[in-house]
Amino acid sequence: MRTLIVDHPLIAHKLTTLRDAATEAPTFRRLADELVTLLAYEATREVRVQPVSVRTPVGPADGVKLARPEPLVVPVLRAGIGMLDGMARLLPTADVGFVGLVRDEESLVASTYADRLPTDLTGREAFVLDPMLATGGTLETVIGMLAGRGATAVTAICLIAAPEGVDRVAAAFPTDEPLPVRVVTAALDSHLDDRGYIVPGLGDAGDRLFGKI
Ligand code: URA
Repeated sequence: MRTLIVDHPLIAHKLTTLRDAATEAPTFRRLADELVTLLAYEATREVRVQPVSVRTPVGPADGVKLARPEPLVVPVLRAGIGMLDGMARLLPTADVGFVGLVRDEESLVASTYADRLPTDLTGREAFVLDPMLATGGTLETVIGMLAGRGATAVTAICLIAAPEGVDRVAAAFPTDEPLPVRVVTAALDSHLDDRGYIVPGLGDAGDRLFGKI
């Protein structure tokens, strides 16, 4: 697995406001949306394209268009839903699959409660949306599901990552494996606390986007 921490002053500025406990849900949602679009720009840097020719008003021009089959975007329920619009802005023709995982607050082990992914992902790239890469258990499971269905590359977009999560996913998907896996994030934070929250992080991303359940 490769990790890209996107270093850009606008991203750092928006992330700082997102972290602030005083930022209310409407602003939090807007900033998360904007951050995802900025991260998606980097995350799609290696997206597959195919050559195409068009005719401008002046003459022929060679260019590219997104290759088929189209990529698959996979928001992880529930917090990943808050990232979908920001991603779809850059990849409007991508299909969307959904995965729901919930983690046990004691054991921190994630279990799957929803799987709405295509059964065959042969030849397709997948972009996983999950705001917080904490223990890495959820991301490891989701990438495993995508790999098992034949995805050719998986890129996870996470607003914030913890070293523990990065290390776990990197161990599960080493760079010498045939499946290329990348994590694109705005920040690599310090550590996880004993409840599995990223420190300093931003708290519970799902609660901050959609309210407590
Ligand atoms: N999930 C969150 O929403 N926040 C964390 O800090 C860790 C996991």
